[in-house]
Amino acid sequence: MDFSANHRRAPATLYEDQLRMGFGALRFTDFLEREFRESYAQENYQKSRLVLAMCAIVVMFVTVVQALSPSSEDNNLTNMGLVAMGLMIIGTLIMSYLDRRVLYHSFIVVSGLCIGIAGTIIDVQASLAGQGYYFAGQIGWTFIMWSMLGLLFAPAAALCFLVSIIYLGSATFMGLPGEQLFFEGFMLLNVNLLGGYSCYKIEYSSRRTFLESRILNQLAERDGLTGLYNRRAFDQHMERIWRQSRRENVPITVMFVDIDHFKAYNDMYGHQAGDDALKQVASVISSAVQRPLDIAARYGGEEFALLLYGPATDYVTSLPEMLREDVLALGTAHDGATATKLLTISIGVAIVSPDAERSQAGAIQMADEALYKAKEDGRNRVVVRYSTTTDVETGRFRKHA
Ligand code: GH3
Ligand code: MG
Ligand code: MG
Repeated sequence: MDFSANHRRAPATLYEDQLRMGFGALRFTDFLEREFRESYAQENYQKSRLVLAMCAIVVMFVTVVQALSPSSEDNNLTNMGLVAMGLMIIGTLIMSYLDRRVLYHSFIVVSGLCIGIAGTIIDVQASLAGQGYYFAGQIGWTFIMWSMLGLLFAPAAALCFLVSIIYLGSATFMGLPGEQLFFEGFMLLNVNLLGGYSCYKIEYSSRRTFLESRILNQLAERDGLTGLYNRRAFDQHMERIWRQSRRENVPITVMFVDIDHFKAYNDMYGHQAGDDALKQVASVISSAVQRPLDIAARYGGEEFALLLYGPATDYVTSLPEMLREDVLALGTAHDGATATKLLTISIGVAIVSPDAERSQAGAIQMADEALYKAKEDGRNRVVVRYSTTTDVETGRFRKHA
C-alpha cells in the first residue's frame, strides 16, 4: 500500500488515465514510469539466472572442444573470447545474487554486450576456420537478449542492434565469403524481427498488467463515495504505523471526525444532499493530510479517521481546529443544527506517546472518548487528549450519541 501518494486525488485515477491514454510507445508518464521500471526489475530479477547458467555450460563445452582441437594453440583470439565470455557470465550470475535490482538490470545490458562481442570474435574465427555452424551461437544469443534476460524493449533493441552490427561488421572486415555473409545477415534480421516482436508484446502486456493490478488494489483500499481510504486500509496502516512508532519512539496522533446532526441533515435535505455533504467534508479532510505517512480515511458512515505520524508540533495541534473551521466555512446550510444553522463537525484527538503500557486499541478508544466529549460539550468543537495525562478506561469502545 503506498500512502505517500497524493490524497486529494485517488491515485487509482493516475493508472486509469494512463490506461486510457495508451502506451503503444512503451512509455508511461514520468511518475508511473519510474514505478513500473522498479517493479519490472523486481519481477524479472531472477529470470536471467537459468539462462546464464546454461550459457556457462555451453561456454564450458565449447572450451573443451577448442582445447581438444589440434589448432587450439594458434587460436588465441578464440581462447580469449571464451575466457571473457565465461568471466562475464559468472560475474553476471554473482551480481544477480546481490540485492541491487535496478542496478543489476543495467549491468545485464553491459554484460550482454560484452558476451555478444566475445561471441562475435569466436564465431567469426570459427567461420574462417571452416566451422560455420558456430553462427548458431550468434542466433541463440540474439534470441536470449531479446527474450530471456528480462530486459525492456528499448535496451534489448539497442543491445541486439549493436551486437548484430558488430558481428556483420567484423565478418565483412575479416573477409567472410559474400554468400555466407548474405545468409547470416538475413538470418540475423529475421531473428531480430521475431525477437523484437515478442519482446514488444511481453513488455506491452506487463505494462497493462501493472496498470490493471494497481487499479484493482487501489479500488479495494478506497471508499467509493469519497475517494478516501476505507476502514480496512486505515486499520492496516494503523497497524504498521503503530509498530513504527514504538520502534522509533515517535508519538502518533489519532483523530476521529464526526459530522454533527447528520441524521437530521439527511432527514431534512435528503440522502443525495447527505452524500454531497459527505464528499465536501471528505475533501476538506483529505486536503489537510499532506505528509507521506499521514492518512485520512472514511471510518464508517459519517465518521472519518486521521492518523498523523510524528511529534505534537504546531501543525498537529492546530490541524483539527483548522479542519473544524474549514468545514464551517463551507457554509452548508443545516437548519437542524441548533446553534450554527450550518453543517459542522466534532473532532476527538488522541496524541499518543510510545509506551509499553498502551495498546493500539487503547489509542483508538482514547480518540473515540475525546469525540464523545466533544459531542457532549455541544458539538462543533475539538477535544484533545494526551496519553501522558489521560487514563484510558479499558473495555469496549464507547458508542457516542
Ligand atoms: P451526532 O451529531 O451525535 O453525530 O448525530 P448524528 O445524527 O450525526 O449521528 P447518528 O449516528 O445518529 O447518525 C448518522 C447518520 O449518518 C445516519 C445515517 O443516515 C447517515 N449516514 C451514514 N452514512 C451515510 C451515507 O453514506 N450517506 C448519507 N447520505 N448518509 C449517511
Ligand atoms: Mg454524526
Ligand atoms: Mg457517527
